[in-house]
Amino acid sequence: MHEYSITQQIVKIAEEKAKSHGAVKIERISLVVGELSGFIGESIQMYFDILSKGTLAEGAILDITYIKPQLKCSKCNTYFYRKRFSFECPQCGGMGMPTEIGKEFYVKDIDIYVG
Ligand SMILES: [Zn+2]
Repeated sequence: MHEYSITQQIVKIAEEKAKSHGAVKIERISLVVGELSGFIGESIQMYFDILSKGTLAEGAILDITYIKPQLKCSKCNTYFYRKRFSFECPQCGGMGMPTEIGKEFYVKDIDIYVG
């Protein structure tokens, strides 16, 4: 349910940015969502449809890019995608450690229509 408040913030940030540029409409909001961020894109989309009503963001496209988590090998520093039930590095067989990749959550871009 925490998607509700984050979506409120996204709409607020987008509107503030649009207004500061004198826009009449927001056409697209590009979001980056890591699969380990704890946020679910479909929920954000659902809340966005409700929360954007009556704002400059109403009818805007929510463009979500999902980031797959990656591990980093503790031996050879290779970044790689984890296989199911395995943390093994595909290069050297070393142990993969968690990284920040896949935990991202941010607004990448806002496309506005100035009219
Ligand atoms: Zn390795």
